Amino acid sequence: MSTLLCVPIMVHDEDAALASARAAHAAGADLVEFRVDEFFTGDLEAPAGGPHPTVLAIERLVAQSPLPCIVTCRSGSEGGGYGGDETDRVSLYERLGLAEPGRAPAYLDIEYAAYARSANIKQKVNLAVKHAGQLREVGPSLILSAHDFTARPADLTRKVLGMNAEPAAAIVKIAYRARSLRDNLELFELLVQRQKPTIALGMGEFGLCSRILAPKFGGFLTFAALRPAETTAPGQPTVRELLDLYRFRSIRRATKVYGIIGWPVTQSKSPLVHNAAFDALEHDGVYIPLPIPVPESPAPGSDDAYLGFKATLLDLAHDPQLSFSGASVTIPHKEHLVRLAREQGWLISPEAAALGAANTLIVTRGARDEFISAAISNTDIEGLMAPLRDAVGDLSGRRVAILGAGGAARAAAYGALAAGAEVTIYNRDEARAAALAAELGRDSTGRMNAISLADLPRSSAEIFIHCTPQGMKGGPAPDACPIPVAEIARNFEAPRVVFDTVYNPIETPLLRHAKAAGWRTIDGVHMFVRQAMTQSKAWTGRLPPEGLFDRLVRESLA
Ligand code: NAP
Repeated sequence: MSTLLCVPIMVHDEDAALASARAAHAAGADLVEFRVDEFFTGDLEAPAGGPHPTVLAIERLVAQSPLPCIVTCRSGSEGGGYGGDETDRVSLYERLGLAEPGRAPAYLDIEYAAYARSANIKQKVNLAVKHAGQLREVGPSLILSAHDFTARPADLTRKVLGMNAEPAAAIVKIAYRARSLRDNLELFELLVQRQKPTIALGMGEFGLCSRILAPKFGGFLTFAALRPAETTAPGQPTVRELLDLYRFRSIRRATKVYGIIGWPVTQSKSPLVHNAAFDALEHDGVYIPLPIPVPESPAPGSDDAYLGFKATLLDLAHDPQLSFSGASVTIPHKEHLVRLAREQGWLISPEAAALGAANTLIVTRGARDEFISAAISNTDIEGLMAPLRDAVGDLSGRRVAILGAGGAARAAAYGALAAGAEVTIYNRDEARAAALAAELGRDSTGRMNAISLADLPRSSAEIFIHCTPQGMKGGPAPDACPIPVAEIARNFEAPRVVFDTVYNPIETPLLRHAKAAGWRTIDGVHMFVRQAMTQSKAWTGRLPPEGLFDRLVRESLA
């Protein structure tokens, strides 16, 4: 059976909840969960006699739901809003379970802790759900669940075994906060080894991959919110993200897993383009965020950032069932990837070796999905050089000024030098610029130097490549124009070419000024697109359709 997509709905108002259930149906969900714990007061009867209005509202919701539903009245002890009497909660379940056919929920969810704590509660719940010993005509199946919002529970195995051993439990659910990507691997193992249909989900940013990859491991369901503001657990994706971005319905056991490794990675456009490429190329892969954090304030000389990266990446690569097949690697791990590849004896492309930074990992796996080898490369250089070649042709003998001395500037300087250009580096930290020029110039036949930033207005370069975060939305100086275009234009009349590597916004203050001066401009989307297309080819063997990445990135930034 394929993994169900379930939309959780916090019920506060009957009409709004029903509207959400209809929207979930229209959006392509298979199931809804009515979370009634902030709605059900614990009162079963109205003061004037007869069923309490909230109970009747819940019954109507279930009966009118356009999709099969789970009803959950989650206790406060496991992150829910119900603080009333336990017997009243179970009486509600009993009432719902005994509703006439077609008016009962498909599932009732109760915490294993509450269920196992009292023989009386267990007996009453068992009267309301389907199981081998059931004598009554009841509708729902029982989901036994366990949640931990802080971490993997120490007694995880005991809980899972206990839930599976309960004869009345149809489905076992375990959810805990994943504190790193590695916490998901145990959830995948639980799914693969399941005795009964199982839901195993990691909460929080690090657990997102368990929600996306549930179909790969045969998870019973995954939860997805209708809208970003309506999540019921941290890290829950939206239905649209699951269906459109991650192609949830096409994920199966053999699907290869790729991702963007960095910190942070939540804003990355890489999942957008790479999943679209897999779709267009009919490549059985899914591309997901793979956040690997670094310590916020590491002790001087600490190697923790690298060690965390290494441990996580090796666990992903060697996991026997994840089918981890490759990654884009971004700040702050590009240098870590080269160091790890050297330690492990992986293949390193000449560019990655020369720069000491790599952004692409390709993993080769065997017939039984076992790790065989890995190779790393740096597609940032191609990302910078291909748009430049398209715009100005041969770079040989051309004067190129690069602003910045970080990773992007290194890639630009390396590429421009290799193409025969004369390169000048300008940077805020002038010593860093000089060191970069000395290092790359030493191994190159091309000409390379570093000049004080104060001399930038007198630059006679024909091509400027901007490689700092100035002008970037949310960056340190979003309104800054890092190159004094007007002054340079006054000093030298010939129009120049400006390549701004910043791509959000697409038109930066620098590009606006350059256009106003009549210069040719290349925006940062070109770099992003070309480096990503080269990665896609490294994983799939083919380039994605021309124009696809460009359109997707521009549409999403617009
Ligand atoms: P990095 O390694 O951290 O280097 C940042 C560089 O910018 C350093 O030279 C730094 O100068 C300089 N800098 C930082 N803040 C500055 C400020 N407020 N004023 C002046 N200079 C400043 O980063 P990176 O990987 O090279 O990335 C740099 C930029 O390139 C990114 O912000 C991004 O916009 C762009 N980029 C684009 C793509 C793409 O696909 N389009 C890919 C990668 C990068 P110091 O040396 O003095 O600290």
